[in-house]
This record gives sequence, structure tokens and C-alpha cells, in this order.
Amino acid sequence: MSIMVKKISAVYPGSFDPPTNGHLDIIVKASRLFSEVIVAITDNVNKKHIFSLQERLNLVQKSIKHLKNIKITSFSGLLADYLEKINSFIVIRGLRALSDFEYEFQMALMNRKLNKKVETVFLLPEQSYTFLSSSMVKEIALLGGNTADFVPKYVDKELKKRVVNLTKN
Ligand code: ADP
Repeated sequence: MSIMVKKISAVYPGSFDPPTNGHLDIIVKASRLFSEVIVAITDNVNKKHIFSLQERLNLVQKSIKHLKNIKITSFSGLLADYLEKINSFIVIRGLRALSDFEYEFQMALMNRKLNKKVETVFLLPEQSYTFLSSSMVKEIALLGGNTADFVPKYVDKELKKRVVNLTKN
């Protein structure tokens, strides 16, 4: 069942390094609430990523190709400025546990301070994804563990290839 709140788009920002089943779950849930979900991948040079921006765009693209109302973009700089640029002011964030809350709460209020039109909507993933994070998935992959249950099939394949390359060098 799909509940359409309004004909309105929402932006889901994040690093997606790599996209996980938890991200996907949030994207699917958001796509049922909003007429369009814009997945906005951060191009933050200060963060150390395992996949380049172009690779992350491709990984998300491959993971959501079965969904209709999703657009994928990237941005650098402040999210509040990017939202102004694309004239879209609803931000989607996922909340896994209480531990996410403090940081997310602070960021939501800061974004609203920077641009008072911004509202953040928090979505809760299915319980089975509450322990899942990109950094945990990377760590497991780098230590030779199996990540097939945590990320889409295509992402898993690319992650395995990347880890082989990283551990060779
Ligand atoms: P960032 O570096 O901006 O936190 P991430 O890609 O790690 O980017 O996460 C983007 C958003 O997705 C955040 O709101 C994060 O809490 C949420 N998220 C990440 N993993 C999950 C998950 N397993 N379940 C629900 N939300 C998640």
C-alpha cells in the first residue's frame, strides 16, 4: 500500500559508501510517502571513502533500478544550500537506534537554523537493519567476512573486487 502525503519531493542525503540494505529500506519507505525521492550523495573530500563519488552513484543506481520515483544526484558543500538550489526542503534521514539520535537531532536543528525552510523526516528501518552501517560492512569486507546479507547483490560483487584490490596494494 502506498500512502501519498502530498505531491512533494524529499531528499535523502548520505555518503552511501557503500549503499546497504538499510539505506535501501529507507529509500523504499520514503518512496511510498513522497512523490519523488532524491538520493543526494555527498561529495565530501574530507571523508575517506572506499568508493569514488562516480562509483557510489553507480552502486546506488544499480540498487534502485526496480524503483520508479527515485532520482540520484550528488552535491558538495552545505546540504542547506543544496536544498535551496533544487528548491526541495524535506530531508529524509534514517534512525537506527538511540545512538543515532543525538547526532541526527543536532544536524536537523542546524540545517533548519541554516535554512528555515528545511524540515527533517526520520524514518525507522525494519528491525533487522538496525545494526547495519556502511562502516561495519566495510570493516567486515576488509577482514574477509561475508557481506552478502547486508548489501544488494551488485554492491556485494563490487565490494569484494575492491577489497581484493585494496589488500593487494
Ligand atoms: P552519513 O555519512 O551522512 O551519515 P550514511 O550513508 O552513513 O551517510 O547514512 C545516511 C543516512 O542513512 C543516515 O541518516 C543514516 O542514519 C541512515 N542509515 C544508514 N544505515 C542505515 C540503516 N541500516 N537503517 C536505517 N538508516 C540507516
